[in-house]
Amino acid sequence: MSSLQGYTVPGLPLVREGDDLAALVKSHFELQDGDVLLLASTIVAKAEGRFRMLEDYRPSPRALKIASDLGKDPRFVQAVLEESADVLLERPFLLVATRFGHIGVNAGIDQSNVGEGRILLLPEDPSASAEAIRERLHCDCAVIVTDTCGRPFRTGVAAVAIGWAGIGPLRDWRGERDLHGRPLEITLEAVADEMASAANLLMGEAGGGTPAVVLRGLDYPRCGQSLFRTEEQDVIRRHLRS
Ligand code: GDP
Ligand code: MN
Ligand code: MN
Repeated sequence: MSSLQGYTVPGLPLVREGDDLAALVKSHFELQDGDVLLLASTIVAKAEGRFRMLEDYRPSPRALKIASDLGKDPRFVQAVLEESADVLLERPFLLVATRFGHIGVNAGIDQSNVGEGRILLLPEDPSASAEAIRERLHCDCAVIVTDTCGRPFRTGVAAVAIGWAGIGPLRDWRGERDLHGRPLEITLEAVADEMASAANLLMGEAGGGTPAVVLRGLDYPRCGQSLFRTEEQDVIRRHLRS
């Protein structure tokens, strides 16, 4: 019988710029080797001082046009454009690729759990954030930075991994045999995304105050390729532009 345990890290405070997330987690939870620590991007971004005031943005003509089409605050649209490496859709919502490779609506900029008039950008490089946190945990653990996202083709949000360290985010099943002895040819399983979604069940989306989850009992790959498709590999992205 296989099993998996998931724990919220209890008692975490409102995170502020400069907070040491590794120290905070360790003071509230005893990590064991092999654990996977999942952190909501929200607290990683807060610790990294990624708050911005809407009033500090000066909308460009492009931002003004998109904002009026979408009925959005032009300063918010400007913030999204400034976080984008590539704009995939301007309507019916702003879908962009961030500089670190994640594709998301509004560049993942949050207005919930942050306070009035403020926005919270995603961490600039969530895998680098995960690595820095992992190094300070001083254990053989993986760290995954999660964000809740809408999904193409499917209703409802779910969390995905937007950064990771100490883990290969994809499990390669190629070459393993199915029940009938036939070798699998193309199955890469996005284990870091699956863990992110599982952890998000415990984090919740509102005021629960549970931005850190530990998954225990999983065997996971320690290295491997990225979850972010390159532009050349991404057929859908190509069609959005045409
Ligand atoms: P996102 O999915 O990364 O955008 O984060 P959410 O805004 O959905 O928040 C995920 C969880 O983290 C929820 O349980 C929030 O209540 C919690 N959360 C957000 N910010 C903080 C914080 O500063 N401190 C604590 N303790 N919890 C927070
Ligand atoms: Mn978010
Ligand atoms: Mn969320």
